[in-house]
Order: sequence, then C-alpha cells, then structure tokens
Amino acid sequence: MDFIRMHIGGQSVQGRPIPILDWGHGPSRVMMWSQMHGNEATTTKALLDLINELGKGGARASALEASVTLRIIPQLNPDGAQAYTRVNANGIDLNRDAKEKTQPESRILREQYEGFAPHFCFNLHDQRTIYNVGETATPATLSFLAPSMDAGRSVPPQRQEAMQLIAAMAADLKPALPGGIGRYDDGFNPNCVGDQFQMAGTPTLLFEAGHYPGDYQREETRYYVYAALVSALYHISQGTHRKVPLESYAAIPENGKLMVDLLVKHAEACNPALARGTSLAIQYREALQAGRIAFIPEWPEEGLTLARFAHETLDAATPQGRKALNSRSGLLSLIQGVQP
Ligand SMILES: [Zn+2]
Repeated sequence: MDFIRMHIGGQSVQGRPIPILDWGHGPSRVMMWSQMHGNEATTTKALLDLINELGKGGARASALEASVTLRIIPQLNPDGAQAYTRVNANGIDLNRDAKEKTQPESRILREQYEGFAPHFCFNLHDQRTIYNVGETATPATLSFLAPSMDAGRSVPPQRQEAMQLIAAMAADLKPALPGGIGRYDDGFNPNCVGDQFQMAGTPTLLFEAGHYPGDYQREETRYYVYAALVSALYHISQGTHRKVPLESYAAIPENGKLMVDLLVKHAEACNPALARGTSLAIQYREALQAGRIAFIPEWPEEGLTLARFAHETLDAATPQGRKALNSRSGLLSLIQGVQP
C-alpha cells in the first residue's frame, strides 16, 4: 500500500509553505492543483477526500497506485485562502500570471510542472452561482474545459485527449447529475495556466465546481468533484477515454450565465415606490466577516437583463415570503433602497 509523500514546494508571498503531495508509482503522471484562487475551496476539499480514500488502500487504490502517479498541490494560494480572496497577497490573479510568472506561487506551479513532467494536468476551481447549463434552469454543478492553445481554437492531440477525458467523466457522472454538467467557454488566453500547459503539450483539463440546488456550502458539489476525479483516474489507468468520440465533448452544453441567487416577486410589498408586480433579481457576494463566510445580497453585476432563472424565489406578497425576507440580513434594506 502506498503512502502519501509530502514535500514543500516553496513559499507564498507572505511566507506560507505550499505543500506538495505525491502518491502512487504508476507510469501515468497526473498533476492536480487547487485554490490558485484563494476563495475557491470546494475542489481542495474534494482533493483531500481523494487522498483520504486512496490512503485507506483497498482494491481500487491498489489498482490505481500501480498505474498512476499523482502530484497534488491542494492550495497554491494559501495567502488568498487565509484572506478569502481570489488574488494572492500582491493582488495578482495567478490565473493571469502564467506567462509572465511574476509571483512566487506561479513559479512554484511551473517548477512542479517541469520537474514532474505530467501526462495530464487538472486545474481545479470554483465557479460562481450565475452559471446554468445551456438554456436550461439547471445550475452548472460541474463545468469542464479543455482549454484552447491558440486563437484558432485548434484541436491537436493533447487537446483532443483532454476533450475525450472530459467526455468520459461527464458520461460517468450523468446519471447522478442529470443536466447539471456544462462546458466552459474556450476563448484563448495565453496568460491562463491551462492554456499555457496545453500549449506546452500536456492534456490539460479545467474543473469548475459550481452550485447545487440549496447547497451554498457546496458539500454536494464537493462529492461530485471527488467522483469526477475518481472517474478521470480510472479512465487514465485503463486508457478507456481514448475510445470516446470527440463529438461527445462537443455535445456537452455550454455554460450560460442566466442564473441569479434570488428572485423577489411583488417587491412593491416591501417598497411602495415600486410598480405593482415588480420582480427583483438579487445576487449574493461572499465575504469574510469575523472569520466566517457571509452571503451579502447585492444587485447582479451583469444587471437584471440577463437573469432568467433563480436558485430561489420569494413572493413578498405572501406572509411566508415576507417572513423569509425579514430573516435575511441586508435584504429588506436593499429592496427598500430601490428608487424606481
Ligand atoms: Zn478560479
């Protein structure tokens, strides 16, 4: 049975160590990193679930340890994780620093990539609650992307293999997550890490953990990310993804941006200045307040026009709706502040 081998890859801007975990001794090398955006912890939890599971041994772990070697960076941006920010301690988005590598965290990721020479890269993130699948009202609980490696979005062998692996995972997860898997936009950006590693010749997959109905702590989503990782490793170990037709990747619906967190119907019941039958779309902003994550109601960044679906609907004209509105911090004052 294989043990986890740990070393420190280097230090963040504020001097926090960045641990690197290796497992397995098989010929297929898979590198995975999470929380390059500090406020995106769901996939980190899923990686730890994977490590825990593999560490227990058993038939699946034994089969995998002989076929894959994993290099896992659970938290590339520990300063951002502590401050609950997307950016690092210098205010830099590490996923826009892959080309210039101005930040120590970016250089650590590149060093690990060059030293380990992976056959696959998994770039793990959280996505906002605005994403739905295609034109449907189903939130994109998981989204995937095989990033482009040129402006023409060409599909050379490494990108093709990433697409096949995504399609294989999506097929495995479909029964558990019907309609809840989307495909991310593939516009080319050479400053993004995924695009850089794809350009360097390694099949690279973007994983985005999204919203599951009623699950703002993303514990359900955490499970689906874990299941996706297990599925991917199984396919890599067996080579089964190579038989998946490319059309299956194209058939995964693209993400839409049609969701808001909350729709308040008959908002005039809280604010008499509003016209009869006013519906208001509201988005939550996550912020660290006294060491806890708070969900602060705000108007959607993109404006109200794009919103077509809501994760939750409250009717202010009903006693239950008013009670719910009253119980949410900041919601009533936001609605009462609207000038028609
Ligand atoms: Zn991210």
